[in-house]
Amino acid sequence: MNIHEYQAKELFTEFGIPVPAGKAVQNVEQFQAAVDSISGEKIVVKSQIHAGGRGKGTFTDGYKGGVKVVDSKEAALDAGKAMLGNTLVTHQTGPKGREVKTVYFTEASAIAKEYYLAILLDRENSQPVFIASTEGGMDIEKVAAETPEKIARIHVDPAGGLHPFHKRAVAFALGLTTKEQLKQMDKLLTGLYDLFWAKDCALVEINPLITTPEGDIVALDAKVNFDSNALYRHPEIVALRDLGEEDPKEIEASKSGLSYIALDGNIACLVNGAGLAMATMDIIKHFGGNPANFLDVGGGANEQQVTEAFRIILSDPNVEGILVNIFGGIMSCKTIALGIIGAAKNVELNVPLVVRLEGNEVKEGKKLLDESGLKLTSADSLADAAKKIVELIQK
Ligand code: GDP
Ligand code: MN
Repeated sequence: MNIHEYQAKELFTEFGIPVPAGKAVQNVEQFQAAVDSISGEKIVVKSQIHAGGRGKGTFTDGYKGGVKVVDSKEAALDAGKAMLGNTLVTHQTGPKGREVKTVYFTEASAIAKEYYLAILLDRENSQPVFIASTEGGMDIEKVAAETPEKIARIHVDPAGGLHPFHKRAVAFALGLTTKEQLKQMDKLLTGLYDLFWAKDCALVEINPLITTPEGDIVALDAKVNFDSNALYRHPEIVALRDLGEEDPKEIEASKSGLSYIALDGNIACLVNGAGLAMATMDIIKHFGGNPANFLDVGGGANEQQVTEAFRIILSDPNVEGILVNIFGGIMSCKTIALGIIGAAKNVELNVPLVVRLEGNEVKEGKKLLDESGLKLTSADSLADAAKKIVELIQK
């Protein structure tokens, strides 16, 4: 789960990571008060969307820059008005872009140098890792591809926790080695590690982290991503969730305890288990098709959940065919069959449907489907199912 920059910066403040003062607002009436609350003439006006690359982004009406550093309060109001309600396209939003519903006004900082600093989970050795680079403010993927030697990785053994030597290693990798800089980095890195650990983050990224001409180290941008599997222990984080930034179908699915992932093809996949979902998508691709989504009903879905799953995948206008691929373990094929029949009663099934059932109570499941009078194509194997759905949508 992602949150907005202004929310991430509130967490930064809570954990002692320095950020510029600012105010986030959702409507124009609040602009003046927000701008007046900022000291100094220079103000940064920042579009709040769940995507990076805002500075270099362009709005659909041609207005350039989702992050603007301006010289006066009047210019800040104008920039805010240009952004609010407008749709920002960045290299991370896709061509459709994202509507800006919140504008964040912050104090402007003078920049001596920009750095990149992040902490994330290294899945290869199961340890948190700091990623630090002197090439801040840039696309870190580009730095990794072109000048990988400019990226330092400092692992922290979670059993031992964060030690002063880790923090010194990060500070030295960034060349922040004066006594004063080491002192500031010590506090900042402690906060960063504690935040990452305490809130079950998957990623905390500061790009750019800056030094000011006065010698202060400040986080100018903030991105925090949380491990969704741990959200149950952080109601305060769930409260920060902005449903407006998420795919409505994914939200509906999660309400029913299902996981739905939108893709850009035309074949909907209803499966049980993430591994089977991957295999199903691979084999659809192998036979020349393209998945529109996959909906994982998990191990223990009931009939209502399966019906809901069908309703969700059919609400996607790109869907031209459905492939149901179930391997019944705990899940009974009978439940799936009843769910499909239930769904067909409530929603019109106007696209080809291929069903492959295997495993627990498969005979009973197939019998139910046969007797239902539903128009569907049965398949015997995964390959057979994929081949059939690809053929059917080409007709
Ligand atoms: P992003 O483009 O979505 O990553 O948004 P950022 O918050 O990183 O802002 C983009 C760029 O705007 C930064 O890399 C900085 O170069 C610049 N910027 C942001 N805030 C300030 C500021 O307070 N002062 C100055 N001089 N530049 C800023
Ligand atoms: Mn940034």
